[in-house]
Amino acid sequence: MTEIIYRIALDTPLRNLFDYLPSTKEQIINIGSRVTVPFGKRKEVIGIVLEISKHSELGIDKLKRVTSIIDNQPILDSNLLKLINWSSRYYHHPIGEVVFSALPVWFRQGKPLDKLYDKYWAITDAGLNIDCNDLIRSPKQAQLLNFFQQHKHLQEDDLLSKFPRCKTVLKKLVDKKWIMSGNAKENINTLHIANRTNEPNKHQREANELIISQLDQHHIYLLDGLTGSGKTEVYLTIMEETLKKEKQCLILLPEIGLTPQVVQRFNKRFKCHIVVQHSGLSDKERGRAWLDAASGKAQIILGTRSAVWMPLKNPGLFIIDEEHDLSYKQQDGLRYSARDILVRRAQQEALSIILGTATPSLESFNNVQLKRYQHLILPERAGESTMPTYHLSDIKGKKMHGAISQALIDEMTLHLENNKQVLLFLNRRGYANQLFCHACGMVAQCERCETPYTFHKSRNKLICHHCDGQRPRPINCNHCHEELLLIGHGTERIEETLKTHFPEKKIVRIDRDTTRRKDAFEHYLNDIQSGQSQILLGTQMLAKGHHFPNVTLTAIIDTDRCLFSTDFRASERLAQLFIQVSGRAGRGKHPGKVFVQTHYPEHELFQTLIHQGYRAYAKKLLAERKLAGLPPYQYMALLRAEDNQSEQCRLFLLKARELFMQLNQKNLSCFGPLPSMIEKRSGRYRWQLIIESDSRNNLHKHLNEWLMQLNMIKLSKKVRWSLDIDPQDMA
Ligand code: ADP
Ligand code: ZN
Repeated sequence: MTEIIYRIALDTPLRNLFDYLPSTKEQIINIGSRVTVPFGKRKEVIGIVLEISKHSELGIDKLKRVTSIIDNQPILDSNLLKLINWSSRYYHHPIGEVVFSALPVWFRQGKPLDKLYDKYWAITDAGLNIDCNDLIRSPKQAQLLNFFQQHKHLQEDDLLSKFPRCKTVLKKLVDKKWIMSGNAKENINTLHIANRTNEPNKHQREANELIISQLDQHHIYLLDGLTGSGKTEVYLTIMEETLKKEKQCLILLPEIGLTPQVVQRFNKRFKCHIVVQHSGLSDKERGRAWLDAASGKAQIILGTRSAVWMPLKNPGLFIIDEEHDLSYKQQDGLRYSARDILVRRAQQEALSIILGTATPSLESFNNVQLKRYQHLILPERAGESTMPTYHLSDIKGKKMHGAISQALIDEMTLHLENNKQVLLFLNRRGYANQLFCHACGMVAQCERCETPYTFHKSRNKLICHHCDGQRPRPINCNHCHEELLLIGHGTERIEETLKTHFPEKKIVRIDRDTTRRKDAFEHYLNDIQSGQSQILLGTQMLAKGHHFPNVTLTAIIDTDRCLFSTDFRASERLAQLFIQVSGRAGRGKHPGKVFVQTHYPEHELFQTLIHQGYRAYAKKLLAERKLAGLPPYQYMALLRAEDNQSEQCRLFLLKARELFMQLNQKNLSCFGPLPSMIEKRSGRYRWQLIIESDSRNNLHKHLNEWLMQLNMIKLSKKVRWSLDIDPQDMA
């Protein structure tokens, strides 16, 4: 009898699968299961069986045997395996690394699945029907019951991490039969759908009807709706249809910060099992979410980029909210676009997918033109709210308080006196962007990145925003001993300015520094929603997707630097950000105003966006890209090289270029090698080579050949290099 050969993926940068024999001749291992195998000097390495074969190029007598089987049931189904294989080919990335990056950490570490579920606590129907307001005399019970009413079902360790001393209160709720305990995973699916609170408007109805009429087929929709036009309501309607058919909905969001708000909204409409997947969860929680999705128990699966890999037993609908968002593209390791993979997945599983946004990417507009996507437009704000008006405030030569003009202070005062909230946007955290010596011109720089440090006042440190390197703040210049000046304004400094002008108002600042602590973001959002804070100041974390109905003024403090960037995507990005930030104003009953501080009010970007709208501006940009031969009209790949010696990068890329030229292909072009926009980061120099073609197939075919040759270049062992397909961030 010939032995079966198992072809196994290991977490290594090698591009192939590895052949092993079973531990005994009779042993059968399922495709998609985890095993341990000896590899190199290591005795037990975790692997995943991807294929079964009768032959091995190595010859059977050279093969080692599988040490143990971790899973009796496969953890990866055939659909997901197909997607993983496709991604490995499309991104030209080693298959083992793709498989392992798709899996939750718990699985990667080879931990057993049955350890994921502990004792759980769940709310009963009786408990669901209690009005927590009737429990005024037992506030602790009310609080806990309320939490259960929102979460339905909690693992004991999750419950205890939220309410460490809840045992006595819990027992009281159990005695009243409002809460019960259970073990492992036996809970069953239920689905209750609450009535929607508003009627869809004409545009929403047209979108709903079209999507629902073809729900069982593969279609890609670009739901292009203004901020606040009711896109989420459309999602909810389509999700309802999907859930009724006992199918699962997978929804991707750009930011963890948006999940609590969305979960809350989904919960209001659907009483069913919702799981979330994002980097803020524990390994165990992520593992459980994965299993619940795989078993079909989770009806709604919500998450950030990595949720694109969630296994689904009965997939019915995919949604990507804010499809244009850069966070869908992973910028290291497997540099994948979750949006593009999900579109592929929808095609593979013959499902409908909705890409929703107020500011579609140029790629998506192009796909509409090519008739790959169906374009659905929501041209007005839903309900009572109207689009905000714009005011371009020319600050040339004007009196400023720090980075804020007197005109803005006056405008803010008006809105605050009306008991409204004001949102200020600045995409720069920290206090000052430079520490500068007026006597000799010295700027305090991070040597590893050769870029200026940002001064962070609360920590009294200089921090490099490229490598996170830190050092104490020097007071005087070390050359001429003059006192150093603080140049530029970040959110921390603006907060200080605002405090002096509005001492009686509560200011909330939201950026990566203030939201480091778990739950901090959620906490701030609650303060905003409840009206406790009146002035909201933040970076783009605050700009995306949030619904703050009481904000009537949004101020864009400074985007002037971005108007003149050399990155060909900068204008698209800035326009999107501009519209998204503006979209936070006037989402309630009261009209909103967008106040833009700039030295260049006549700039085409502002003028077109304000007077003709985003779609008109995107059209202009598309025409420019076409003329310049840039994506989306060309397909691009970027070969990056990094080394502590700049010259090594250049030589490696020169050789790579030479090999590329020998492929001698028409319709392929090659630019570079050139230093990257950020030439040095964390002590390494960075160079790049750009490959372009107007045919995707052509590009990919030749990349395969080229990659094999790259591995032969001597320097390829020395410099760190990587290939980025459809690169988004060229810095
Ligand atoms: P988007 O997702 O496009 O930003 P939302 O779906 O969040 O828009 O809708 C914005 C606001 O308008 C929400 O408060 C929502 O409840 C409300 N809304 C949406 N559709 C309607 C409608 N047809 N009638 C009344 N209000 C609506
Ligand atoms: Zn640095």
